[in-house]
Amino acid sequence: MHELALVSSLIEAVTEDAERRGLKKVTYLSLSVGELSGAGVDSLDFALRHLTSGTILEGADFNVKVASSLCECKKCQQIFKPLPPFFLCPFCRSGQTVITAGRQVYIEFYEGE
Ligand SMILES: [Zn+2]
Repeated sequence: MHELALVSSLIEAVTEDAERRGLKKVTYLSLSVGELSGAGVDSLDFALRHLTSGTILEGADFNVKVASSLCECKKCQQIFKPLPPFFLCPFCRSGQTVITAGRQVYIEFYEGE
């Protein structure tokens, strides 16, 4: 499961940062999950609950937010919302489009004490 590896690296990043800031405990973690990232919210939630046990994040509240995707057309510069599996520009039908949002999973913020 791809989410397990993903969550492990997120936990590592938060732990490192929290320790650098002298925190003993992380109480809240908010994640943004791109809808094209391939990560499922339920799987992320499950992984968070299981992998944080015994870490600085144990018992923290988790918030997983889905971020919608956006594409930009390189031909007519329009921004649009893709409807996978189609990433064609709805304005000029060009296939020269790039995904500008919705692919990443990242830490929005966290709180600790
Ligand atoms: Zn276009």
